[in-house]
Formats: sequence, structure tokens, C-alpha cells
Amino acid sequence: MSDWIDEIKSQLPAGRVLTDLADRSSYSFDASFGQYIPEAVVQAKDKEEVVHVLKVANRWKVPVYTRGQGTCLSGGPLPVHGGIVLDISQWPREIEVKADDLTVVVSPSVLTARIDEEAAKHGLMYPPDPSSAHVATIGGNLAENSGGPRGLKYGVTKDFVLGLEVVTPEGEVIRTGGGTIKNVTGIDMTKLLVGSEGTLGVITEATLKLVPKPPEVQTLMAVFDEVRLAGQAISKTLTSGVLPSKMEFMDKACIRAVESFYPSGLPTDAEAVVLVELDGHPEALEVEAKLVQDVMEDIGARETKIAQSKEEAQEMWHARKQVSPAIAQIKPTKVSEDATVPRSKIPEMIERLRGIKEKHNVEIVVFGHAGDGNLHPNVLCDQRDQEEMKRVEDAVEAIFEAAIELGGTLSGEHGIGTMKAPFMERELGKVGVSMLKRMKDAWDPNGIMNPGKIFPEEGQKLVLRDE
Ligand SMILES: Cc1cc2nc3c(=O)[nH]c(=O)nc-3n(C[C@H](O)[C@H](O)[C@H](O)COP(=O)(O)OP(=O)(O)OC[C@H]3O[C@@H](n4cnc5c(N)ncnc54)[C@H](O)[C@@H]3O)c2cc1C
Repeated sequence: MSDWIDEIKSQLPAGRVLTDLADRSSYSFDASFGQYIPEAVVQAKDKEEVVHVLKVANRWKVPVYTRGQGTCLSGGPLPVHGGIVLDISQWPREIEVKADDLTVVVSPSVLTARIDEEAAKHGLMYPPDPSSAHVATIGGNLAENSGGPRGLKYGVTKDFVLGLEVVTPEGEVIRTGGGTIKNVTGIDMTKLLVGSEGTLGVITEATLKLVPKPPEVQTLMAVFDEVRLAGQAISKTLTSGVLPSKMEFMDKACIRAVESFYPSGLPTDAEAVVLVELDGHPEALEVEAKLVQDVMEDIGARETKIAQSKEEAQEMWHARKQVSPAIAQIKPTKVSEDATVPRSKIPEMIERLRGIKEKHNVEIVVFGHAGDGNLHPNVLCDQRDQEEMKRVEDAVEAIFEAAIELGGTLSGEHGIGTMKAPFMERELGKVGVSMLKRMKDAWDPNGIMNPGKIFPEEGQKLVLRDE
């Protein structure tokens, strides 16, 4: 047993420092690719325990991989250099809504959907709504700057963070920001930490902004025979004076997959379906829904439908939610990407994806948050087929290249982690990556926080095959 493990055990209950292979194995993967076994797992339940672990790890220069619920799609919590997995999921889940301030203070282990549920009891809303909100922690959301469909109108996690409590890699506790809406004291460390993917410290508390909960929502579906027209209709809607809360896109392959998995009445001969949600006052919604419907029809939607009841709206969204399980029936492995492009480039990106699919002979289905340009091309494959996985690697690289060429980004939501690190320089350039690295080195002089992530290592390539 290593001396550093003994030191960690000296101040934590033995049952929460796990060294058995079986325990360590269950912390060796996330929702992406690759398996790495840590030397120890520590289940921290309060700030003092995190301070202790980081002080010991920093002194012994042992890597620390903070982990929420392990739902990351880019390899964020994977212990690629061994060391410690610091499990935050066992931490007591505390949510304190301060209704008069329109803020909420949360512990890092809180599941994101619970924040919105608690806020709703006070007539308030926490808008960030990643699809994984019922299973992912707010700590993970903060580290990844996660977003969801409502990002179109309200923004993503970073837009709702007012303050953080963080344990630095050297084991010091700092507070950034606070409980006020405005705060311009110094360089904004809160924004620097959000989206830093666990490379700058451990988030132990967050103060988040809430907004008044809109009294009503309205849903509308539009069906298109051409993807190009769907793209145009999305752009036109966004310049028509109405800002929907969600605008989701499904391509033909998704529509067909949903219909064979959970028949929902979607038209299987259509090239694209766009689902729109508006929120606000009921009287305004009536006018806005009609306006969006007119825009969709003017651009060339072959059919539009405004939900006439809550049940009908739920049915439409249920179809959208079935996309992930439905496409999982097509092939056993799903490489879920989130390359994002400026909104005007959506039709071109979809065209490029079609070309990539043909060139590399892979199955790609496309859905996503079209209103903010955040598409989710999913490459469906079989991880046991090494030859197919080589083609998938090439296709994924081509997807990243296409997004960057169109003025977009490698990741709109899922983060860089291990999966996209090899491509960082293509988007940020050598100097950009080096500036980021210099910041990281200043925060974490011994390089113990989540090493092997974001920054490409010598010769690192995207590898989805077993090696
Ligand atoms: C089915 C499915 C749907 C998804 N849908 C979406 C979506 O719609 N939008 C979206 O953005 N993402 C989505 N994701 C990705 C994932 O859920 C998010 O990235 C989420 O924020 C991860 O939270 P987690 O608790 O699982 O964190 P983990 O996966 O455990 O960790 C993620 C990263 O956060 C770091 N981290 C975790 N906790 C802390 C902390 N307290 N302090 C510092 N660093 C920390 C880890 O080191 C790691 O780098 C989806 C994933 C799945 C499997």
C-alpha cells in the first residue's frame, strides 16, 4: 500500500477510501470510451475531506480525478494516469433557495433536475436542462459548462453561476463571485472555473441564478421535405421577433428510428422535423405560436401542428426524447458528438455530414438543438468491429474539421476531455492552447488536477478501438 494512501486514510473513515480492485474497477469508465483503473477511490462528503485529499495528493504529486455521476461523454472523469478518483456523488445533497434574491445555493452532488424542481416551489426556474439532468450532478455540469434545449433562450450553465466555493489543487479554499447579479471585482475567476473540466480545482458549493418561471408553454411541430428548408425556417423564426425556449431538430434517420422503436405518428417519409417550444404568458403564446407557424409554412413546411393540449405537447416531446434509446437499437455503439456551428451554417453542416457518412461508409444520424447551432451527429457502430471503428475515427475527425471550417467549435456541450484533446490546436491555434496551458500551470503547479485532459499529449490521437 502506498504511503500517500495511508496518509489519506488517516483522516477519512476506512470505508470511504476504496482500494479493492472490484471497487476501483467500477470507477474506471464514464459514458465515453476507454477504461482506466485508479489506485484509490476516495468518497468525499465535505470540504475538509477534499482539502485533506488535495493537500496529500499535491505533496506526493498524485493525480486527482474528480467524479460526479460519471455521465461525461468526453472522458472527463477517467483516471487516465491512475492516482485518485475523488467521488463527489456521496456528498449530502443540499439545496437552499433564496427566493427573495432569486438565487439558490447548492452542494456539488445535487442532481441538476432537483434544482429546477425546488425553484418551481417558489415560482422560479433554473433553466439549464441537459438531457442528463436527472442523473448528472451540478458539479459535473459546472465543470463541463453543460447545456440543453432551453439554452436557446436562456443560456447554459455558465450564464447562471454567480459564485463558487472551490478547493484549489494545493488544498486551499477560495470563494469566487457571490450572491449578487453584478460583480466586477477583479478578473472573473467564476467564469474561468466553469467549463474547466475539473482541471483547476474541486467545486464544493455554487450559488446559482434563478429566473421567474414562465406561466405557460406551447409546443409546435413542423415537418419538412428538405433539410435546407428546415434550416432556413429555424433562422427565419429567430429573426421574426419571437425567441422560442427550445428548437429541436430530427433528421429522417432519427424519425424512422423513433417510429420503429416507439410509434409516435411522426411522418417517416419526411426529411426533417422541427419541434418548437415557446414559453410566457398564455395570451402572448397564442400570438407567438401562430407567428412561428406562419414562418414555417411560408418557408415551405409541408405540415405544421400546434399542440392543442398538454398531453399532445408531451407526446411530441416524448418522441424527441425517444431518439437516444431508439438509435441505440440500430447498432450497439453510439459515438455522440456535439460539434456546433453558427446557426446560419446548419444546412451546410448537415450537407457535410451527409458527405462524411458516404465517404467513410458509416451510419450517422443527426438531431439536436438546432436553434443554437448545437447539432448532435451520432455515429452508430459496433465497437467489437475494429475495422468499422477505424472508419468511425476518421469520420469523427472529419466532423470536427467540418465544424471548425464552418466557423464552429469542437464542442458545444460535452467538453474536450480525452476525446477531443488531439484537435484543440486546430480550433485555438498553438498560441491559444499554450495560453490556456500557462493558466493551468499557474493554478496547478504540480499538475495533479485531471492530468491527461483538454491538453493534447505528445502524439495523442482519437482512439475508439480497443488497443
Ligand atoms: C444520456 C446522456 C445525455 C446527456 N445529455 C447532455 C446534454 O443534453 N447536455 C450536456 O451538456 N451534456 C449532456 N451529457 C453529458 C454529461 O451528462 C454532462 O457532461 C454532465 O455535466 C456530467 O455530470 P456528472 O455528474 O456525470 O460528471 P462526471 O461525468 O462525473 O464528470 C464530468 C467532469 O466534471 C468534473 N467534475 C465533476 N464534479 C466536479 C466538481 N465537484 N468539481 C470539479 N470538477 C468536477 C470531472 O472531473 C469531469 O471532468 C449527457 C450524457 C449522457 C450519458
